[in-house]
Amino acid sequence: MKIIIKIGTSTLTHSSGCINIRRIEKLCKVISDIKNAGNEVIMVSSGAIAMGRGKLNLKEAPRNVAEKQAFAAVGQCELMYAYDKIFSEYNQTVAQILLTADDLRNPERHQKFDDTMEQLLNWNVLPIINENDTVSTTEIKIGDNDTLAAIVAESTNADLLVLMSDIDGLFDSDPRQNPHANFIEHVDEWSDDLMELGGNAGSERGTGGMFTKLKAAKIATESGCDMIIMNGAFPENLYNIIDGKPIGTRFFAKKG
Ligand code: GLU
Repeated sequence: MKIIIKIGTSTLTHSSGCINIRRIEKLCKVISDIKNAGNEVIMVSSGAIAMGRGKLNLKEAPRNVAEKQAFAAVGQCELMYAYDKIFSEYNQTVAQILLTADDLRNPERHQKFDDTMEQLLNWNVLPIINENDTVSTTEIKIGDNDTLAAIVAESTNADLLVLMSDIDGLFDSDPRQNPHANFIEHVDEWSDDLMELGGNAGSERGTGGMFTKLKAAKIATESGCDMIIMNGAFPENLYNIIDGKPIGTRFFAKKG
């Protein structure tokens, strides 16, 4: 099975912006094992901006775009250093890929991206993708890694896209505001009405909320890929997903 696993900032970092060591160690162990079992895995990882802030020990949120981009430049090193170090313990080789929307809109560059991904997977390397935040501006921005992960799933013909977030899945209203919100286990067929359940951004550290996850679900399912939203606090649940157990909210790929 080819799986795209997107990890949100809230899964990887503490509210200080510093890396959540226990979480990332568990995550890398489980992903390594899933690869060892014969699955192809591509990661899309957020966290660069928050980790840059954590590393620079700055308490305040970025004041402008340049600060955000500078945080990302510092944090991306920290992020890849952590992944490289921990995945090495499990004998996994990682590769960093930084993308902008422009890269994927341009057919020639898109083709190069596809070729590189194919080569990396042939070598059993674990690609770790993020938006190229230091050069991304409004015009060339994908904007959030949920959408980026869905575009990657579409372009690599993945079987499954997993979005790891700080929420268990999709509810019929915001569970942070409504304690009686009902959990939705699966969405068998995409309907545009679902976007109304989107609301706004979730945690203060990441960019995407449920809205971007639903947008991602539309892209993934229309391209024939199932998508799951799961809580990133429990990385072991990835095993249950591989075993076909119901975890989080599953959006089924469009048939035919
Ligand atoms: N690319 C951003 C980062 O690494 C995250 C974007 C998102 O939260 O979706 O910090």
